[in-house]
Amino acid sequence: MTAPDLLQKLHDTFGFSAFRGVQDQVVGRIMAGKSTLAVMPTGAGKSLTYQLPAVALPGTCVVISPLIALMHDQLRSAEANGIRAASLTSADDPDYRERAIASFRAGELDLLYVAPERASQGHFRELLSRAPVSLFAIDEAHCVSEWGHDFRPDYRALRPLMDAFPQVPRLALTATADAHTRADVLAQLGIPDDGLIVAGFDRPNIRYAIRHRDNPVRQLTTLMAEQPGPGIVYAPTRRKVEELADKLALVTGRPVLPYHAGLDPQVRAANQAAFVASEDMVMVATVAFGMGIDKPDVRFVAHAGVPKSIESYYQETGRAGRDGDPSVALLLWGAEDFARARMRLDEVEESRRAGERSRIDAMSRLVETAGCRRALLLRHFGEDPPATCGNCDNCLDSPAVVDATTLAQKLLSAVYRTGQSYGLGHIEKVLLGHDDERVRQRGHDRLTVFGIVGSDEATLLKPLARALQARGSLVPTEHGGLALGGDAKEVLKGEAAVMIALPPKRESGRKARRDRSGGFNPVGDPLFDALRTLRRDLAAEAGVPPYVIFHDSTLRDMAALRPASLSELGQLVGIGARKLEAYGEAFLNVIRQH
Ligand code: ADP
Ligand code: ZN
Repeated sequence: MTAPDLLQKLHDTFGFSAFRGVQDQVVGRIMAGKSTLAVMPTGAGKSLTYQLPAVALPGTCVVISPLIALMHDQLRSAEANGIRAASLTSADDPDYRERAIASFRAGELDLLYVAPERASQGHFRELLSRAPVSLFAIDEAHCVSEWGHDFRPDYRALRPLMDAFPQVPRLALTATADAHTRADVLAQLGIPDDGLIVAGFDRPNIRYAIRHRDNPVRQLTTLMAEQPGPGIVYAPTRRKVEELADKLALVTGRPVLPYHAGLDPQVRAANQAAFVASEDMVMVATVAFGMGIDKPDVRFVAHAGVPKSIESYYQETGRAGRDGDPSVALLLWGAEDFARARMRLDEVEESRRAGERSRIDAMSRLVETAGCRRALLLRHFGEDPPATCGNCDNCLDSPAVVDATTLAQKLLSAVYRTGQSYGLGHIEKVLLGHDDERVRQRGHDRLTVFGIVGSDEATLLKPLARALQARGSLVPTEHGGLALGGDAKEVLKGEAAVMIALPPKRESGRKARRDRSGGFNPVGDPLFDALRTLRRDLAAEAGVPPYVIFHDSTLRDMAALRPASLSELGQLVGIGARKLEAYGEAFLNVIRQH
């Protein structure tokens, strides 16, 4: 098939007029019969790289996917685009399975989704020899590697299965990019080294914002008011999940549900299903929530506490904005998050301690930086990004950077001279020279550090103490006091500087509002709302989430451009031939009535 034909197919099937990022490279290789490992971040459009060849090539594309829930989501989306697809899993009833097998053997399937455990079954190999296979697509391919974070022994049976069909190209897909794992995946799946295609890690539509957690309910309520669409709030414990879910529901009146491993499995499944189908729900969850969800219209991911590493942070925030629309990742942090994480280091095995410590240090640099958050994140993943991105809190509203080295020396020496057992409240009184009974009783009014901080610097003490705790120069004692740690000695000796970033006084509300006007939904526009209502009705009728019918961006285009005919409607991004035929008239009717 020639390149123009392939673009035509792309448009007819998916309603897209161009490839995104590395998609054309990946699809090009597959169409040429070359095996490939594509490392693409969440939302980059991995599924298209096998679905398009699946419809363009003769025969069936066999997709190996580890999560049955995800498989069924993809199946529904593929079918909605008119792709002939079926699955073979333990969750399907025998009748369905028999029909799937019959369709495959009759050459009537573009896509056959299977779980990895099938791969080792002799009768599955037998089945595949009964009809032409166009492509093996291996989703979440890092599962084949013990170096990956999610090793699945079943994936090891894929190689012998695929080796039995040497003429069929292999396409391995993953969003995790660690170099070690990539090399291992290539070797394990028998893909040549030159078959590696790595897309950039950047998620330009996600706006990163990181704030000190001074009132989480208020901060999250503000975020929810700015973002009427679906969102996820990650909380560190089950109790916090329940508590936040209750409060946010009460304060905002929005649908808010909890999700954590302590809930009854049925409740958990029901909450997840409700979230996937919803256009405005907020899920408050532990990190147990997320694997197996590829809801494209998640408008924000908030963290109510510090995640355990940059990797987890990036993976979790990556669940926002897969559809490419503007989205927000908000992290609320407290000094105690770092204090607790550093305390837990003592319980970590000796051999893993240094690694753990560097993960905490990396997180502390992320929250403390006055520079571009995105640049820091991308550098962490080995990229060489521009110094500023224009779409993170620090780029939009630069924080003030203060050289607090001298004040830090005063603070650290007060901690040292009072015996490294008092909390910040007491230390502040000593430094500010308060006439306080407890200070006098301990004789702390006679220390050289008594009263050495003037009132002009008093407001800096709290953010400074936070920064020192984040970087580990101050560590908590067992009884809630503060002690010296990390590089405290170097700071005291003047060998290390302490720069702190002070966020602008007014949170970036004004700018943020201006930014979002371009991308966000015109909720309240009668036509847009009517289009959404129709989408909701059609989705309910078909038993699929609304985004399977059309994405928000497609409805926005309809409302803005008001197409008057099927052919005009068919020009919009996201409307392929099948959807045009199935839904076109209904949407045109709504447009005509407004
Ligand atoms: P991933 O699996 O990599 O996270 P998906 O395959 O779910 O990403 O695709 C993410 C979103 O991007 C989907 O909603 C899809 O419709 C959209 N998309 C994919 N390719 C294109 C393209 N070429 N043009 C426009 N939108 C696209
Ligand atoms: Zn930035």
